[in-house]
Amino acid sequence: MATRYEIPFRLFFIGRRAVRRRVYSGGMKRIDIRDGQTVSAMGKNFTISVSDGAGKSSRARTENDTVNILLAEGIDGRQKNKHVSLLARKAISKSVMPDLAAKVDGINARHFCFGLSRLGLKDQKGRWGSYSKGTNSIYLNFRLLFAPEDVLDYVIVHELAHIKELNHSRNFWRLVENAMPDYKEKRKWLRKNGAALGPSIAPKPPQS
Ligand SMILES: [Zn+2]
Repeated sequence: MATRYEIPFRLFFIGRRAVRRRVYSGGMKRIDIRDGQTVSAMGKNFTISVSDGAGKSSRARTENDTVNILLAEGIDGRQKNKHVSLLARKAISKSVMPDLAAKVDGINARHFCFGLSRLGLKDQKGRWGSYSKGTNSIYLNFRLLFAPEDVLDYVIVHELAHIKELNHSRNFWRLVENAMPDYKEKRKWLRKNGAALGPSIAPKPPQS
C-alpha cells in the first residue's frame, strides 16, 4: 500500500501573528525564498511570484510550476520575507510530496518492506529526519530537497531503519549498511555541507 503523506501545517491561514520568531540550531541557515526566485526541488523548477493582497491572511496557490503568493494587507519588509519564505516552502513541499512519497515507498520496498503510515516534510532545525513510533510517521527536513539525491536517499534509509530499531545500536547501523553500503560517505557529506543546504537566492529579474 502506498504511504499516505501530509503537509503538517495549514497552508492558507497564516496570519501575521502566527509567524513566530524561530531559533535555528545546528548552524542551519534560515530558509529564505524571495519574490522572483526560481527554486529547484526534486527535478522541478518553481518560480515564486508575490503580489500584495487585501485579505487578512497571506496565501499561496501553485499553478503549473509557479507559486503565486498573495500577501495579507499591510505586510511588508521583514514580515513579507517571512511570509513569502514560509508559504513558498509549504507550497513546494506539497508539490513535490507525491514524488517524494514514491521515492520513500521505492526504497522501503527494495530494502525493508516495513509498514509506514505517514510521510511529511518539515522545517526541522538541527535534525535531518525523524521517525515517530506513536504515529508511525517519518518527517524529513525540507532542506534535503536541495541535497544530492544519494544524500536524501541515505536519510530516508536511516529513518526507515528506525521503524525496526528505535535507537542507534549496532543492529540499527547494520540495517542501514545492508541497504546502503557506502552510507558513511553520505553522513560525512551531511556533516560537512548540511548547514549550508537551502534554496539559493537568485537575483530578482528586472521589471519590464
Ligand atoms: Zn537516527
